Amino acid sequence: MKETKEFQTESKEILSLMINSIYSNSEIFLRELISNASDAIDKYKFNALKSEGKLPLIEHEIRLSVNKNERTLTISDNGIGMTKNDLINNLGTIARSGSKAFVKKLKEATDQKDFNIIGQFGVGFYSAFMVADKVEVLTKTANGKAFLFTSDGKDSYTIEDAKKDDNGTIITIYLKKSTNEVNYDTYLEEYSLKNIVKKYSDYIRYPIKMLCSHQKKKLDAEGKELDEYETIIEDETLNSMIPLWRKNKNEVNEEELNNFYKEKFSDYEDPLISLFVRVDGNITYDSLLYIPSHVPYDLYSDAYEKGLELYSKGIFIKEKCPELIPDYLKFVKGLVDSPDFNLNISREILQQSPMMKKISENIEKKIVGRLNELMKEDFDQYVKFFEAFGEHLKFGIYSTYGAKKDLLENLLIYHSLLNDDKYTSLKDYKEKMQNEQKYIYYASGESLDSIKLLPQIEKYRKRGIDVLLLDKRIDEFAIMMLREFDKVEFKSISDESADELSNEEKEKIENVTNDNRRLLDTIKDALKAEVDNVVISSKLVDAPVCLSTKDGLSLEMEKTLNEQPGMEQEVKAQKVLEINPEHDLFKALSLKQGDDALVKEYASLLYDEAMLLEGREIKNRGDFVAKLNSLMIKALNK
Ligand code: ADP
Ligand code: MG
Repeated sequence: MKETKEFQTESKEILSLMINSIYSNSEIFLRELISNASDAIDKYKFNALKSEGKLPLIEHEIRLSVNKNERTLTISDNGIGMTKNDLINNLGTIARSGSKAFVKKLKEATDQKDFNIIGQFGVGFYSAFMVADKVEVLTKTANGKAFLFTSDGKDSYTIEDAKKDDNGTIITIYLKKSTNEVNYDTYLEEYSLKNIVKKYSDYIRYPIKMLCSHQKKKLDAEGKELDEYETIIEDETLNSMIPLWRKNKNEVNEEELNNFYKEKFSDYEDPLISLFVRVDGNITYDSLLYIPSHVPYDLYSDAYEKGLELYSKGIFIKEKCPELIPDYLKFVKGLVDSPDFNLNISREILQQSPMMKKISENIEKKIVGRLNELMKEDFDQYVKFFEAFGEHLKFGIYSTYGAKKDLLENLLIYHSLLNDDKYTSLKDYKEKMQNEQKYIYYASGESLDSIKLLPQIEKYRKRGIDVLLLDKRIDEFAIMMLREFDKVEFKSISDESADELSNEEKEKIENVTNDNRRLLDTIKDALKAEVDNVVISSKLVDAPVCLSTKDGLSLEMEKTLNEQPGMEQEVKAQKVLEINPEHDLFKALSLKQGDDALVKEYASLLYDEAMLLEGREIKNRGDFVAKLNSLMIKALNK
C-alpha cells in the first residue's frame, strides 16, 4: 500500500529554501547523511548491548556506491533503521529542538537574499535535496517490516511497504542535472567522494567503505609481479576512523578542527577560537575546546546545559560533563578524552573526582590564556568575542566574589568617554591617566548615550579625564568585586566622594555652603523621604542639580536589584542631592533663603529634575506636572 503525505509546514519552508538556493557548498549533504548513518549504528549498538543477546552484535559499516548510468549515489548503513512512524516523525517533520530557530535564521537570510548562509546550516537529512531531484529511503528495523520513503522534496512524500533483508537504511540520491553553476556529476566520481569523506567524516568511528578502482601490477601464474598493470576493483575504507583529537597535533589543521566543530555542535559558522590541548603529566588528557563566533541560540534558555563531552581512549562516556567547565565559561563547547577515566564510572564519583577538578582548572587557564593572546593578536576579533560573551567574564568575577580577579581583569574592555567608539582595556586606561588623577573613573546607565548625558560627566569631558562607560547591568557589581586595578581604585563619578578638589576649590564650596546653610537644610527637610543629604556641588558644569550616592550602592544598582524577581524589601541607595552653585537657579533660590514655604514648594521639582537627568523615572508624575504647570501659568500671566 502506498500512502502520500504532506510535509509539515516548517519542513516545507526549509526544503523550498534548500532547493532554490544555488549553493556552492552542497557537498555537505554527504557529511550529514554519513553522520546520520553513524548515529543509527550507535543506536543499534546501544540496543544490542542492552538486549542481553536478543539483538545480535554485528560488524558495522557505512557504504557508498554509485551508479553512473542511473546517476544515483547510495549511502547505506546497517544501523537501527526506521519504522513507518519513525519515517513520518523523523523525515516528514523537523524534530530537532534547534530547528525553529533555524527556520527563523533562514527566513532572515532569504529576506536579505543572502543564500550563502543556508547551506552552512547542519540541517541533516533535508540537505540531500540540495543535490537531489528525488530521494529514496529504504529502511528496516531489526524486528520490523521494511518501508520505502520517496520524495522529490517539494510538498509531499510517499511511504510504501518494501522488501529488505537486514536492519539498516539505504538512502538513494537521484542527482540533479548539472548546470553551469553546479556540477552534480562530481558526486558520482570516486575521487571527489573520497575527498569529501576525508574532509568531513574522517573520524567517524565506523568504516565508510566504497568499491574503488586501483591500478595493480599483474601477477603471473607463480604470483610474481609482471610489468603490466590491470585495474582492480576492491573495497576501500575511506576514513581513518581515528578521532580527530587522538591524531598527532601536527597532522590536524585549523580547517579540520573547524569542520569537526560544526558537525559535532551543529553550528553553521566556524568557531571564533578552536584549541587543541594535549596534556601529559600527572593527569593525561586530550581536549578540543571551542568558543563559538556567536551566542548559541539556546544559551539563555533554561534547557541549556553547560559542559564538555567526556571520552576515555576515544570511547564515548558522557555527553555533558558540567564539572569540566566553570559556570562563567558555559558558552565553551568541546570534549575531553582521558585514559584515566573508567568507562563505567558513576556520576557521583565523576563529580567528586579530584582529577575532574584539576582538568577543569587547567582548561579554564588554557581558555583564558588563549583569550589574552587573541586580544593582543587581533583586537577586532577579540571585540567580537567580548560583545558576545564579555558579560560572562564579568559574571565570573562577580559570582566568585573577586576570587578570579587576577585571572580575568586583563580581559575586560569598556567603552569610555574619550574613546567612544573603541574599547579600552583597564591597562590602556591606566596608562593614559593624568598625572594628578587618583582613580579609575566610571559612570553607569542604561545605554552609552544616556550615560553621556549624565550631568556629572561634563566636567570630565572638559578636563580631558577619561571615564569608563558601563552600560551592562552586571558591570558595577563586577567592579565592586574588583575594587582596584593595578593598585588604582575604581570610583563612580556619581559617588559623593568622587571629586578631587584643590584647597582653593574646597574652601569655595565651604563658603557657599556656610552662606546657604538654611536654604540647604530647608530643602533637605522637604526631601527627607528621598535623600540623605543636600549639598553644594563641585561636580557640575551646566546642569543645575545631580544625584550622587554614598556607600557604594549606586542608583543603577538600586534599580537592578529592585527589578530582580523575589526581592522582598525594596533596596535603597543613599542619595545626595547636589546643587550647582554657579547655576542661575541656585542664585535665585539663594535670594529666597529664609522664605521656607516657598523653598519647600520647589524642593521636589529640584529632586525630580535630578532624577530625570540621571535617566530615572520620577515617582509622582502628576505632582511634577501640576507644579510645572503652575510655574508656566505664572510666567505666562506676567
Ligand atoms: P538530526 O540528525 O540532527 O536528528 P536529521 O535531519 O539529520 O536531523 O535526521 C532526522 C532524523 O531522522 C534523525 O534524528 C534520525 O532519527 C532519523 N534518521 C536519519 N537518517 C537515519 C538513518 N540512516 N538511520 C536511522 N535513522 C535515521
Ligand atoms: Mg543528522
